[in-house]
Amino acid sequence: MNRPEMCRRARSRAGPWDMVVIGGGATGVGCAIDAASRGYDVLLLEQSDFGKGTSSRSTKLVHGGVRYLEQGNVSLVMEALKERGLLFENAPHLVSNLGFVVPRYDWWEAPFYGIGLKVYDLLAGKYGFGSSRILSKEETLERLPTINPDGLRGGVVYFDGQFDDARLLIHMVATAFEQGATLVNYAPVTGLTRDEGGFVNGVVAIDRESGEEIRASAKVVINATGAFSDEIRRQADPEAAPMIAPSQGIHLVFDRSFLPGDTAVMVPHTSDGRVLFAIPWHGHTLVGTTDTPVPCATLEPVAMDQEIDFILGTASRYLAKKPSRADVLSVFAGIRPLVRSGNASNTAALSRDHVIQIDRTGLVTICGGKWTTYRHMAEDCVTEAAILAQLPEKSCVTGHLNIHGFHPSADKFGDLKVYGSDALEIQQLGLNVQLHPLLPYTEAEVLWSTRHEMARTVEDILARRTRALFLNARAAIDVAPRVAGIMAVELGHGERWRADQVTEFTALAGNYIL
Ligand SMILES: Cc1cc2nc3c(=O)[nH]c(=O)nc-3n(C[C@H](O)[C@H](O)[C@H](O)COP(=O)(O)OP(=O)(O)OC[C@H]3O[C@@H](n4cnc5c(N)ncnc54)[C@H](O)[C@@H]3O)c2cc1C
Repeated sequence: MNRPEMCRRARSRAGPWDMVVIGGGATGVGCAIDAASRGYDVLLLEQSDFGKGTSSRSTKLVHGGVRYLEQGNVSLVMEALKERGLLFENAPHLVSNLGFVVPRYDWWEAPFYGIGLKVYDLLAGKYGFGSSRILSKEETLERLPTINPDGLRGGVVYFDGQFDDARLLIHMVATAFEQGATLVNYAPVTGLTRDEGGFVNGVVAIDRESGEEIRASAKVVINATGAFSDEIRRQADPEAAPMIAPSQGIHLVFDRSFLPGDTAVMVPHTSDGRVLFAIPWHGHTLVGTTDTPVPCATLEPVAMDQEIDFILGTASRYLAKKPSRADVLSVFAGIRPLVRSGNASNTAALSRDHVIQIDRTGLVTICGGKWTTYRHMAEDCVTEAAILAQLPEKSCVTGHLNIHGFHPSADKFGDLKVYGSDALEIQQLGLNVQLHPLLPYTEAEVLWSTRHEMARTVEDILARRTRALFLNARAAIDVAPRVAGIMAVELGHGERWRADQVTEFTALAGNYIL
């Protein structure tokens, strides 16, 4: 993938695209894969980097959602469990099977969670990840040596999927490209065009690198901008009633000593009625999340003090080694694009089902849902959009479409596992020099992502092509000059660019440090 070539394709197109997708998160890129693999001509425009929005800031679970089962949303759980199974088949290099233990401190928790999780297993059917079972206190401590032993009666273990969200997204961009889609990052859509009848028939965007305008006409425009959906809808129809109830969730990252094994902890009832996870992720411990209504979406949301205190407080109740602010290596926030409901009193209670809204201008908006269900969301959306645009009917093929890098035994690539079949080529670059003793990333990965994955800034490399910023923000700041140096040579930039990149990244990374 090469950005200048993508821009050239976007600008030189003579006739209308079958579909233009706005937004390069899981939902938009999912739509681009679906549309392109059906044989439609599709252009996707992302205002920043792919995954800059919510899709790089999740809890990294490919899951049915035990919580939604408790809420009685069986159809959502079944759909998500099926999608979990399909994603595991289509991207085995990026999705892994992880054991979760619900620790038990009350007598009723064994039958309650034991039965609930058996239902969860059953709903997965042939896409099951393993059987849940009740654990004794000793078995629980064996799996979770750092769980708080005071009053512990035992646990219940169940199995779910885990992934690296931004890395999967980049492989999805590559998949869409291989299927024939054109995808441009750093190209914000600034306006929609309409025909004489008032129907949306294209978009106007800016290439943020050259400053040039990109005008793209389309038979149908899909708005997949997540928490920003209402802004795009109002560009088409200033009177469009808002659909989105943005809700912020944060995570704290600690070193591995807080959760040294390979089993996660799931706390099913926190004081705010949510679930809290502590998960081993890339050699660190990831703890989250919160659900705080916010007035509007921003691209770089910042964790609030009360959210940080809530996670530290709840984690301290369950972990023998109590985490403090000084232990936090990184804190990151994301905005859920939840769909409004007149009756819901808090955002935790809002449905995670997806919604496809066709406005009177013909703009198609897809929002809500979960990372896990992106493929199904895209299937529904592209089917609706194709009908609206009167495109020839073509069946969805993504149920069994391998994601770029597909490799059935990528474990053998060690830290490069997440690159799947690309790992061999990265190894052959020969720059096997680790960037920082506390981070598993090498110079070769920086070069690879700059050359082949449309990384344009130091932040792209340290936040989304690698996960350095999310694992250890101070270490990420330390390596920024080296990353800028490698990128500058590859992209042909000078000293000024290097210095600006380091300054910009250091300022941004300040939001990830307490
Ligand atoms: C804290 C948290 C934890 C979560 N954990 C999980 C989990 O573990 N598992 C799970 O399945 N789901 C999880 N989710 C939900 C999941 O992350 C989201 O549902 C999903 O990422 C939404 O993807 P999206 O593409 O709709 O939105 P986004 O990823 O936000 O993408 C929208 C994109 O549109 C772009 N955009 C906006 N305006 C414009 C414009 N004018 N022009 C061009 N582009 C534009 C933005 O830059 C952005 O990149 C979590 C969500 C949160 C907040």
